[in-house]
Amino acid sequence: MFETLSDRLTTVFSSLRSKGKLSESDINATAREIRIALLEADVALPVVKDFIAQIKERAAGAEVSQALNPAQQVVKIVNDELINILGGETRRVRFAKTAPTVIMLAGLQGSGKTTLAGKLSRWLKNEGHAPLLVAADLQRPNAVQQLQVLGERAGTPVYAPEPGNGVGDPVEVARRSIEHARHAQHDVVIIDTAGRLGIDQEMMRQAADIRDAVKPDEILFVVDAMIGQDAVTTAQAFVDGVGFDGVVLTKLDGDARGGAALSVRHITGRPIMFASTGEKLEDFDVFHPDRMAGRILDMGDILTLIEQAEKAFDAEQAEKMTSKFASGEDFSLEDFLEQMQMIRKLGPIKNLLGMMPGMGQMRQQIDEIDDRDLDRVGGIINSMTPDERRNPKIINGSRRARIAKGSGVSVTEVNNLVTRFFDAQKMMRQMAGGMGIPGMPGTRR
Ligand code: GDP
Repeated sequence: MFETLSDRLTTVFSSLRSKGKLSESDINATAREIRIALLEADVALPVVKDFIAQIKERAAGAEVSQALNPAQQVVKIVNDELINILGGETRRVRFAKTAPTVIMLAGLQGSGKTTLAGKLSRWLKNEGHAPLLVAADLQRPNAVQQLQVLGERAGTPVYAPEPGNGVGDPVEVARRSIEHARHAQHDVVIIDTAGRLGIDQEMMRQAADIRDAVKPDEILFVVDAMIGQDAVTTAQAFVDGVGFDGVVLTKLDGDARGGAALSVRHITGRPIMFASTGEKLEDFDVFHPDRMAGRILDMGDILTLIEQAEKAFDAEQAEKMTSKFASGEDFSLEDFLEQMQMIRKLGPIKNLLGMMPGMGQMRQQIDEIDDRDLDRVGGIINSMTPDERRNPKIINGSRRARIAKGSGVSVTEVNNLVTRFFDAQKMMRQMAGGMGIPGMPGTRR
């Protein structure tokens, strides 16, 4: 997402890099370029206008810094304004003082509501809650069943109408689900409601009736980012028809432009709370305006990366690895495998690299990375004997042929791995040398 905008802005900034000082015409030219970049990204016109006005005012204003060069100043201003447009502070879920907290989902059919219900329940569970999913979308065929499947995958119980027991009345289902949640000790209730293909009075009325019956603590408007400018119109219709507290953007993986994300908050005044980036339950996260701005400006999303790394890394394991290097033991294929497994836990490599600063220029190469390559490497190492892993120097021609056969790859692939491993080992030695770790082979002192 945001590739187009990101690329355009990078070009704008790089043309400023050689300037010693920004003249008024430089500022105007830059503002014009940013304007085009935003329009191309499908950002709504009123948002673009406000954005540009802010940039111009601040660039020309008193806040000219001695510490930053002109290009850096503009990047900083654009970054600040992007954060602003995206909503400023991260907006967290507000939990009710007395359980259960009721979260109601509203949005058009196909916006990804039901999928989101599953994702949200999984996320809440990971945060230590005991959510209940409620199937109050009785309009779309299979919506109830779809929610049941998702609930099963997320490990969340689903409250659905039983035949002959208020079937057909979503308001009644929603009302009863709250009672049920109280009895069954669920502290959060997520209500999936029916959408329509377009904005529709009947749909709005039903959503409003459910709202009045269950008095939600949070109404989340779910919107497909791929519908572009229509997202803004739809959001406005839901503000008027049902009202909502926060926005969830879905299918951000499919939209390279991201204009909806940049417009919806400014137009509706409601914060974006979550973002969905795929069909799987885990393709979902809290929306952080500052991190998103950083990603658009290709400054990398270091915070997200660190947070993910913290979740995946086993502190004890990392400690073991560090002390091992410090004690002068050589880096073995076993360590290599262990590290690879740690990295794999962080998720798809593509996503990981995408979060690193400056990787925007390498997008195409990153897209070609296939996680299965890593798994193949794991397979090759697993086919080695413990001796071979600890001391790869002994892996001669006949051993390579055996390993290739065992892991179902060609001998060339085994050769490549061994060569790459020796390179990595050399690098580790140099790094340890550079850091002056005592006793490490190859230490330069
Ligand atoms: P609902 O009608 O609003 O309940 O929408 P669904 O949850 O059934 O979603 C409609 C379609 O969009 C399904 O095929 C989902 O798998 C897909 N979908 C939902 N969220 C995402 C997302 O973030 N990315 C992508 N690529 N597809 C999604």
